[in-house]
Amino acid sequence: MYLKRLELKGFKSFPNKTDIIFEKGITSIVGPNGSGKSNVLDAIRWVLGEQSIKSLRGDKLEDVIFIGADNKKPMNYCEVALIIDNSENIINIDYSEVSIKRRAYRSGESEFYINNKACRLKDVKELLLDTGIGREGYSIIEQGKIDEILGNNVNNRRKVFDEACGISKYRYKKQEGEKN
Ligand code: ATP
Ligand code: MG
Repeated sequence: MYLKRLELKGFKSFPNKTDIIFEKGITSIVGPNGSGKSNVLDAIRWVLGEQSIKSLRGDKLEDVIFIGADNKKPMNYCEVALIIDNSENIINIDYSEVSIKRRAYRSGESEFYINNKACRLKDVKELLLDTGIGREGYSIIEQGKIDEILGNNVNNRRKVFDEACGISKYRYKKQEGEKN
């Protein structure tokens, strides 16, 4: 399982459709200050369902939508798709490639899709549980995350280990069961 491609359209500083292809192994993103490197990571977090605008370095929901530039009009919506290789069937779905897509409008609506089929954020979350990829997984280690893991919050540290051991799913199911 690895990240194959990220498709951006209207997300932050990427008004034009931009496909970023990742190969197996290590990819580095380099570029001058302000060229959009962190925006690429924000896009990955956002498509996985990040709801905290602050952690996406914005003030309001629509800050992820291209705001316009000298020669380009603002966009009314943005769209990010993350394409993950699933040839080893680590993600529990019958496809060798999984696409997770999120679209948002200035009005505040957000839509999610799994392999182009409309779904809820809950479905994305459930699909990625125990894969380490989800919003609460450990596939994105941002600044401060290591401190958070090593810090003295036992519950948060436990969540990382639960995810790595593949037991988040059971904890989640238990919580969901208790709700009913
Ligand atoms: P650094 O090396 O300083 O960390 P970086 O490559 O990580 O820089 P980013 O933070 O990803 O840069 O990009 C910042 C740029 O993105 C700024 O120029 C900002 O104006 C632009 N930007 C952010 N949100 C939007 C938006 N909604 N519309 C248009 N441009 C945006
Ligand atoms: Mg940066």
